[in-house]
Amino acid sequence: MHTCEQSIFIEGVWEPALSGSTLAVKSPADGETFNVISKGAKPEVDRAVAAARKALSGTWGTLAGFERGRVMCKLSALILENCVELAELEARDTGKPISQARTDIQSTARYFEFYAGAADKILGDVIPFLDGYQVMVHREPRGVCGMIIPWNYPASMFGRTIGPALATGNTVVLKPAEDASMSCIYLTKLAHEAGVPPGVLNLVTGLGEEAGAALSQHPGVDFLSFTGSSEVGTIIQTAAAMNHVPCVLELGGKSPQIVFADSDFERAAQTIVNVITQNAGQTCSAGSRVLVQQSIYDPFVELLKSKMSNVRVGAPSADLQCGPVINKTQQLKVQGFLDRAHTDGIEVLAQGSMDESAGPTGYFVRPTLLGPVPTTHELAQQEIFGPVLAVITFEDEAEAIAIANGTNYGLVAGVWTENGARQMRVAKKLRVGQVFINNYGAGGGIELPFGGVKRSGHGREKGLEALKEYTVTKTIVQKHD
Ligand code: NAP
Ligand code: MG
Repeated sequence: MHTCEQSIFIEGVWEPALSGSTLAVKSPADGETFNVISKGAKPEVDRAVAAARKALSGTWGTLAGFERGRVMCKLSALILENCVELAELEARDTGKPISQARTDIQSTARYFEFYAGAADKILGDVIPFLDGYQVMVHREPRGVCGMIIPWNYPASMFGRTIGPALATGNTVVLKPAEDASMSCIYLTKLAHEAGVPPGVLNLVTGLGEEAGAALSQHPGVDFLSFTGSSEVGTIIQTAAAMNHVPCVLELGGKSPQIVFADSDFERAAQTIVNVITQNAGQTCSAGSRVLVQQSIYDPFVELLKSKMSNVRVGAPSADLQCGPVINKTQQLKVQGFLDRAHTDGIEVLAQGSMDESAGPTGYFVRPTLLGPVPTTHELAQQEIFGPVLAVITFEDEAEAIAIANGTNYGLVAGVWTENGARQMRVAKKLRVGQVFINNYGAGGGIELPFGGVKRSGHGREKGLEALKEYTVTKTIVQKHD
């Protein structure tokens, strides 16, 4: 792959940072630098926002929905055509196993396909009102959207945010994560090739505290979409408040998997272990707490132990169940949780094994099952963002719900039971944005509205629901007598 010193894309032109600074691009599998990207900051953000503003009133602003949809269909097709190369790049940049990277690229294409189909179906309303009046509610684009995304699923996050924004006629400035910008650069090239006009999609690579901060604070931005940690989410929401612009925040989670005595043990245990080891546990919606009914503790935990012991960790190219975590800081952070759990006397119930492809310089962590964990312990309360699963016990349905709702987060929950009435009763009492019954994650589910409550954020991405976020209503009242 060629070097990327010119990874900033403004008004259809690739350029380096004005300062000439670059950032090293490392592979988590071996810690080696394999590329560089431009370190953009405020000057580039200023120009990118100005370009996005100009493009709003250019051709993009006047294109019919179906024409925007056609450009997006072309982009979706180009992503699929480039799937092999994109997946290799994503795996190298983020460390995820190659088949997981391929699945991510396929979802990226699906986002553009899904939202392309919606682009000519952004409907308004006609409201019956007083005699002599005609009332119409139009849905208009927000305008210039500032997008800040994390490193865990960069390509699919590109589709998840930019898909609905473009479908609804907005223009975009994207700041990807320092640790994983490569697929976003590639996808931006494909968007240009597909016919997204200059200025409609601008990309500024760089650091969060520089380029990200400049974008979130920019008075020329009309809407902010942020996916990342709850801590940075607070900073973004504060910046949005200063400019009185709306924002969608997709933040962290501590999602529970609630396993009742009457569940299908085999299916539950396998899914729960798959979910926490996918992307090395660095998934906001990862089910990182498994709540097990006391009466089945022994047999169910035995099953979890055997599944966790079978997980193998290795380089992305080895294509095992689990790859490395993103960087040294994350590796140390996860290890810190394990060390403190040991000090606190919490038992390691099972660990996955390292493949020979997991070299000493890579950021590998052994997937770990621990328990029983007291509900107040940090393993039961804090987001670890690694392949670490905490087992917690409960006696009855009421206690399960109280424990499930007993963290600061509220993103996703899994409910495992064959009792239909209980499935719905529990689902309705959980304070989260998505509940999965006898399954978890539904393969990403582009069609399914997604987002959190409490410290997991607010606003919704994905599905048709996202179209409401990226548009604003205008009510037009006409008197005709
Ligand atoms: P992060 O540190 O919050 O970073 C997210 C993005 O914000 C990155 O692009 C980062 O840039 C940027 N950023 C950092 N500081 C900033 C600032 N002061 N102003 C503006 N932007 C700033 O999160 P992360 O460590 O990359 O990702 C992990 C977190 O994201 C986890 O908590 C996870 O749960 C959450 N997450 C949530 C979802 C969801 O949909 N709910 C999805 C994925 C991840 P740099 O990295 O370049 O500095
Ligand atoms: Mg990287």
